[in-house]
Amino acid sequence: MTVRTRFAPSPTGYLHIGGVRTALFNWLLARHYGGQFVLRIDDTDQQRHVEQAVARIVEGFRWLGIDWDEGPEVGGAAGPYFQSQRTEHYRAAAERLMASGHVYRDYSTEAERAADRAAAEKAKRAYRFRRIEYTEEQLRQFESEGRPYALRFAVPPGRTLRLDDAIKGTVEFATDEIGDFVILRPDGSPLYNFASVVDDVTMGITHVIRAEEHLSNTFPQLLIFEALGARLPVFAHVPYVAEPGSKAKMSKRKMEEYAKAGILLYLHDYIERGYLPEAVLNYLARLGWSYDGTQEIFTREELIEKFTLERVNSSPASHDQDKLFWIEGEWMRAQPMDRKVAGCAEFLAREGLVRLPLDPATRSRLEAVITALGDRLKTFSDVVKLGRYFFTETLTHDPDAVRKRLRKDGVVEMLRELDDLLARTEPFDLATLEAAVHAYAEQTGRKMGDVVNPLRVATTGQAVGPGLYDCLVILGRESCRRRIGETIAMLERGGATGT
Ligand code: GLU
Repeated sequence: MTVRTRFAPSPTGYLHIGGVRTALFNWLLARHYGGQFVLRIDDTDQQRHVEQAVARIVEGFRWLGIDWDEGPEVGGAAGPYFQSQRTEHYRAAAERLMASGHVYRDYSTEAERAADRAAAEKAKRAYRFRRIEYTEEQLRQFESEGRPYALRFAVPPGRTLRLDDAIKGTVEFATDEIGDFVILRPDGSPLYNFASVVDDVTMGITHVIRAEEHLSNTFPQLLIFEALGARLPVFAHVPYVAEPGSKAKMSKRKMEEYAKAGILLYLHDYIERGYLPEAVLNYLARLGWSYDGTQEIFTREELIEKFTLERVNSSPASHDQDKLFWIEGEWMRAQPMDRKVAGCAEFLAREGLVRLPLDPATRSRLEAVITALGDRLKTFSDVVKLGRYFFTETLTHDPDAVRKRLRKDGVVEMLRELDDLLARTEPFDLATLEAAVHAYAEQTGRKMGDVVNPLRVATTGQAVGPGLYDCLVILGRESCRRRIGETIAMLERGGATGT
């Protein structure tokens, strides 16, 4: 049997990392067994922004390297892959179920259902919609007056449905708990449970891997599979992603709060900040799945080779931004220089700091900056945050750094002497500069920190960054001296918010 999995997002807004993880598990399982991964768009309830949302999904998947064998943009034999275009399939399946007596026309009115519900509440029993028995004559009349009706599934009473979920284990549910549910509304539009099963059947889906919030939907779905005489797929309900350090489910309503705490929840955020797709993929795979409990770093190929549903945890995993950042760092460290240059150049270009394609001089400067940043470079956008000053002659002083390092007695004089020193140091390289600055500190009886820190702020404007001598060499003698001059002028003017 060929494994066929699917990811069926409702096209609303941005892709949340929990959803991406669900997609990833589907994709990994399909690739593990050499099967197919289908992308299907559940757009029956969405009137607006579908195209934009689909474009984001497509963009996000392409970035991560999750490819789909069938679906939007690639087509496939089981299409169309937008539910809004599959009305015929739903109508045909509904007709079959009508013919086999599994569904009926429900002519009930809102008022009748409300009365029913009120009666149930009064009798203190849970409300479950059951077929309202009309007389033959009433039915004839409804039909002749063209009264609208929904199609409802006649849920068989007194049965216990059993689901053997590949992640959650065995779960049972009594059909008495399930009211007769609508499969097609009076306007002919399908409801999720019905459309989903019809699609899974007609698309030959063998494994339904989705969020555990759909577990309760699975029972009505089991009845539909059965009524259609279709073979059941394997169901695997993936636990939700919990808040960092807790078991509480991440909530869409708290997005702003998370963002304030620096927690990134949308795939888009990671793309924007220049994370490596390999790292995000690696992290998401490990969010609730483990191989041997210790291995953290997995390549795409290893994930495909090792992923199985048995090793997906049945309880929620907490999102861990620090771990993601660590995995990102590991992946970044392993990248060849060319990839780092390309990734960083894109972010610098966005800020107008370099022009693409890079000219040879800028390229070699960028290589030197990347080398100097070393492990500090975790994401591509870090080059802007930590190394902007290498790509612009406009020196921007961090006011805190100025206050802490430069507003001290004797600093201006010292900077003048250091400027002199830089003018004289020959050759202008790492070892020579280091020796010269050391000698200067010794001769003037200063602690190294009292020399190095002000010199760093004077030449870069910042208190932190790569090693000072790396900075000096990359900037070059002329630029260092110009910057020191500018800094002295700024201090004498009382600039960078201080006196
Ligand atoms: N559109 C549903 C969702 O996004 C799909 C659920 C399923 O995979 O069946 O949650």
